[in-house]
Amino acid sequence: MINLADNTNAWGMPPAARAAISDLSSAACYPTPQADELRAALSSYTGFPPEMITTGCGSDGVLDAAIRAFAAPGEGIAFASPTFQMIPVFAEINRLVPVVIAPGELARADAQIAYVCSPNNPTGGVAAREDIIELLRSRRRGEIVIVDEAYAEFAGTSVVDLVRDYERLLVTRTMSKAFGLPGLRVGYAIGNADLIARVQQVRGPYAVSALSEQAAVAALTDGVDWMREHAALANAARDWLISALRERGLQPLDSAANFVFLPVDGAEVIASRMFMAGVVVRYFPELSALRITAGPQPLMDAMLSALDDARRSCE
Ligand SMILES: *Cc1c(COP(=O)(O)O)cnc(C)c1O
Repeated sequence: MINLADNTNAWGMPPAARAAISDLSSAACYPTPQADELRAALSSYTGFPPEMITTGCGSDGVLDAAIRAFAAPGEGIAFASPTFQMIPVFAEINRLVPVVIAPGELARADAQIAYVCSPNNPTGGVAAREDIIELLRSRRRGEIVIVDEAYAEFAGTSVVDLVRDYERLLVTRTMSKAFGLPGLRVGYAIGNADLIARVQQVRGPYAVSALSEQAAVAALTDGVDWMREHAALANAARDWLISALRERGLQPLDSAANFVFLPVDGAEVIASRMFMAGVVVRYFPELSALRITAGPQPLMDAMLSALDDARRSCE
């Protein structure tokens, strides 16, 4: 099977991370409760001090902890639709009220937490910096803004610098996408030290395993060049894929991440036929759209031929 459904790094993981996990001895000891080595490595990578960084079991773990830290059951979490599909799930399991807002109207949201995904999963667009600033300025006392930058390394842009000026901004990131380590479950967030301390408390001790920490530290120290090279390859593959789809008369959206959102008639049927042909893409039944991860050329060729066959058999 060719998996182009998860937006992970289709080239794999940095060799430095693979080498680091071949030594299993750290598994015999507890890691530090708040992953101190990992936070030190993230500090060098991001330029923020360790007390402005928290980590977790994937950025999913960080988002879930942040939601519980900042909102009580019955309070609202606002987000535009479509966005990262886990957000309504986290809202529900934490008994928050989902407040779905039209894109561009987020600053008007009346909610304890406002969530923005940039680049947005699944559509691939980057939120304008001025819009994030407007959103931050519109918040009342105690209200929090979370910007999910899971794809920041592909986009090459970020609003993380705003955490220095806005004490209610939390920016989440992950080792699962450009760094290619989704199976190790390592995510992090950057924010003002008081905000971070509140998330740490809810997240609890030992959320990142010793082996995951070891591999992530290696990726962040000796794997950054590899990551940058492969993020650039993914961006080139994405641009190639967008043109190839447009040449077919299709209308993929522009994307700043390593995936392409493709509204297409019969998306669900097309996705299931592609699946039968061994190619997995994500489909969004209510939007009649596919989301396809960009990857090495042979995978793109195989995917396009499965897509062409599937569309032909739909005619
Ligand atoms: C993949 C993804 C995540 C979750 O990644 P983790 O593996 O939990 O770190 C978070 N947000 C968005 C928008 C994603 O696409």
